[in-house]
Amino acid sequence: MTTPPDQDRYHCFTLHNGLKVMVYHQPEQAASYISMAIRGGHFYDPENCQGLSHLLEHMLFMGSVHLPNPNQINEYIENNGGHMNAWTGTEYANFHFNCRSEALPSVLPAFADMLCSPLLASSSIETEINTIESEFQFKKKDDLRRLYQIHKETCNPAHPFSKFSVGNADIYNQFETAELKEKLRQFHQRHYCGSNMALCIVSPVPSNALKDLVTQAFSTLKAGEPVPTDWPALYTEDQTGVQINIVPLQAATRMIVTFALPGLHNEYETKPLDYLSHLLGDEGEGSLLAVLKCKNWVISLIAGSGIEGDHFKDFNISFQLTPSGLENRDAIIAHLFAYLDLIKKSLHHSWRYDEKAKLNKLANEFDDNPKLLNAACDYAQALLFFPFEAIPQLKILADKFAPKKVEHALSFFRVDNMRVKVIDQKLDTNRTCNYYNAKYSVSKISADTQRLYQEEKGTEALSLPSPNPYLGDNYSLIKLESEFLKPTLITAEPSKKIWFAQDEQFATPKGDIFISFDVPGFTESVERVAAKRVWLAAITDHLQAKYYRAEIAGLHYRVYGHQAGFSVNTRGFSQNQMKLCEQILATTFNFTPSEESFLRLQHSQLQSLHNSLMNKPTNRLFSRLSVLIQKHTYAPLTLFEAIQNISFDKMIQLKDAAMSSYHLEGLLFGNWESEEAKGFAQSLDSQFSKASALPIPRAVTQLPTGESHYHKVVCEHDDAAVVLYFQAPSDGLIDTAMCMILEQMLAAPFFNVLRSEKQLGYVVGTGYVPHNQHPGFAFYIQSPGFAPAHLLSEIREFLKRQFDEIDFYRTYWPIIQKNLLKQLNEKDLSQSMKAQRLWLALGTGDRTFSHNTRLAQKIHSLTFDDIKHYADEAANRQKFGELVLYAPGKFQGLEDDLPHIKDIAEFKQKTRYFDKGSQ
Ligand SMILES: [Zn+2]
Repeated sequence: MTTPPDQDRYHCFTLHNGLKVMVYHQPEQAASYISMAIRGGHFYDPENCQGLSHLLEHMLFMGSVHLPNPNQINEYIENNGGHMNAWTGTEYANFHFNCRSEALPSVLPAFADMLCSPLLASSSIETEINTIESEFQFKKKDDLRRLYQIHKETCNPAHPFSKFSVGNADIYNQFETAELKEKLRQFHQRHYCGSNMALCIVSPVPSNALKDLVTQAFSTLKAGEPVPTDWPALYTEDQTGVQINIVPLQAATRMIVTFALPGLHNEYETKPLDYLSHLLGDEGEGSLLAVLKCKNWVISLIAGSGIEGDHFKDFNISFQLTPSGLENRDAIIAHLFAYLDLIKKSLHHSWRYDEKAKLNKLANEFDDNPKLLNAACDYAQALLFFPFEAIPQLKILADKFAPKKVEHALSFFRVDNMRVKVIDQKLDTNRTCNYYNAKYSVSKISADTQRLYQEEKGTEALSLPSPNPYLGDNYSLIKLESEFLKPTLITAEPSKKIWFAQDEQFATPKGDIFISFDVPGFTESVERVAAKRVWLAAITDHLQAKYYRAEIAGLHYRVYGHQAGFSVNTRGFSQNQMKLCEQILATTFNFTPSEESFLRLQHSQLQSLHNSLMNKPTNRLFSRLSVLIQKHTYAPLTLFEAIQNISFDKMIQLKDAAMSSYHLEGLLFGNWESEEAKGFAQSLDSQFSKASALPIPRAVTQLPTGESHYHKVVCEHDDAAVVLYFQAPSDGLIDTAMCMILEQMLAAPFFNVLRSEKQLGYVVGTGYVPHNQHPGFAFYIQSPGFAPAHLLSEIREFLKRQFDEIDFYRTYWPIIQKNLLKQLNEKDLSQSMKAQRLWLALGTGDRTFSHNTRLAQKIHSLTFDDIKHYADEAANRQKFGELVLYAPGKFQGLEDDLPHIKDIAEFKQKTRYFDKGSQ
């Protein structure tokens, strides 16, 4: 029943030098997507220079024969409407970009030049060692990296996965630059040749024309020799059947059960692992997750991820645990094995394969956001492994009913072939990993423990999913009605508004429904916000098992808090969606959590707030900025205390009181007839007869001009960080336009001077920063080497110089203008994105839905002299409000006699506010 892929769209061929090429014709796209895969990932790094392939990846951006300057290739691609990126993985490296299709005749030769003829200049080698060293330092506190390193140290040391892939200054600096250059050159010669590379182009350009372009661009590429691709086993015998304890930095407790498989993920005709992750990852009633959640052991579960290579695959089942889950982890594994038994017993259920294939077909056929650059990367890599005829089948699910294949896959899901990682801050450990200094230990799983895994007591609640009731039978389009092509009010009362529109642009059987509730009783104190937060988490938790099958049938929902209350959003196929939305709303309003689930969610909310305090300093400064600027936003630390102190009874009491008065506004957008929409609006009318409140303004702090305020944020991080934020005097078109322009203008120079030249830190940048649509812009640096006072004075000095010499930018203005106009005139990429834009416009009171168009017109009309005049006023501090946020890290903070905001609550009470529209 799976439609065979349109074979005509795929054209595969091999150049005389062995370069494999696939051209994937996409006539409905405007842009082209290009990816080159190279068999030259970190597996091939020399033992004594681990990270060499990563350094080479960096060096290819640093100049080639025809584009000799560092990063010239990036600029070249950007000028052709695209963006280039690269990664170095295990077996493969990959370079990829998008661009305007008309530019391919000049872009492809440039890409070939970059890959085939790099300069490998000594001066660039030195700067890139620094860059990689900062990358390395920057990620030292990243739990995923630490886990990854421990993984490497607990696998077969003869397998290249055990090598350190990032590289750092210590490793590279063992060699003279000339020596390193020679190593890079040799590595390049060996791997960057026709025998070890494959190219994929996704493009609307006719395939024959592309074939000619590729043949010409890569004609001088050498053929070379294929590199070896066979590795020893990933794990030795004593490395499976083990438990690995790991102490993380973040508070979350996790358990990852891994089964070591051969390369079964490459069985493209039957895809047995997709089938297994579909069942193991099920979240509906009776599923492994639902049952373990009921026991209060597990918070979430992900099945099927894990490292993979051509011939190996780690199949992970990853659990986030509660404290009682940590104690009962043997029983959790017993549940996993009991569930695997159920799967084994159901291998003959052919309808399960059919349903999975049907779901997959729906997802493919109506995918409104295909990620074509990712697809190009996947295909390029696949060309180096699969025969050409396999390529068209890789992305679709085969409908072949193949119980034998699944049975074979299941034969690897055994205790002696298993590795259990337990991750918790209180575990005992006896080893420390290299590079990241994370603590861990490894022990064999004892026979006694193995016996506990076989206990089936208590696993009776497990069951495999029943047929999906949300799988629709009608995915046809409605007839459009001319009076509803723009959002139109179909319910208009002071405390209740419903808008409705159809879409004439995308012709897809989908839609979006947004219902927002402004609830005064949820905004008036931090305690009420805390009550709301736990209550919403409990709702989401409760809905998960109930509506999981809707999710996988392409009907999505979300219940989430916002500054003035909360919202319900459903999206996906229009058929059955109104019914789903009504069910979710009814459940939301009638639901009262049990005390047990309250305690579990209170705990997980505290944990996630605690973890957000571990975010990198710049992120924390920006999140604190929102707290200071948005009236109804609270700091994680304040919320943490409020959530910690709230009792179950208090939460229920506050929630019941809050829900007695609210304001409701909604939008239905998509594939519905107006009669259906009106019927839905009527049912909301009776369901929400209690709506009686007015919308709550999204007030924004009004910072005074002509002076600066300072605010210190203490982070558990050694780096210092500074954010200098400027707030526009109004949210009018001209102020919005100017903020965007100044930010665009200064972005590249700021990065070049403070990051590249002065090397003040690894995270250096600028941003256009609106709060509730009130414009502003910011400059930020996070630095391991300099104190906040120094960073701030560098930023200020930079700005002063730019404003003094602003005429310098006169010649760049047309380019900046063009870029901004392009951004603003960007079309909605999908119906759902259009729905979000319309919903946002309603929220800001823009009833014409043309804010971006008007902004573009304004920017189009501005001259450079207008900008200069505006910038002069800004430089004289007559326009913008100013706020400095900083984290001292291991350095000294800013002087105490500067005007500091010390008490956030007091500041927010005293400050003046801009009032904003609702939503
Ligand atoms: Zn890198």
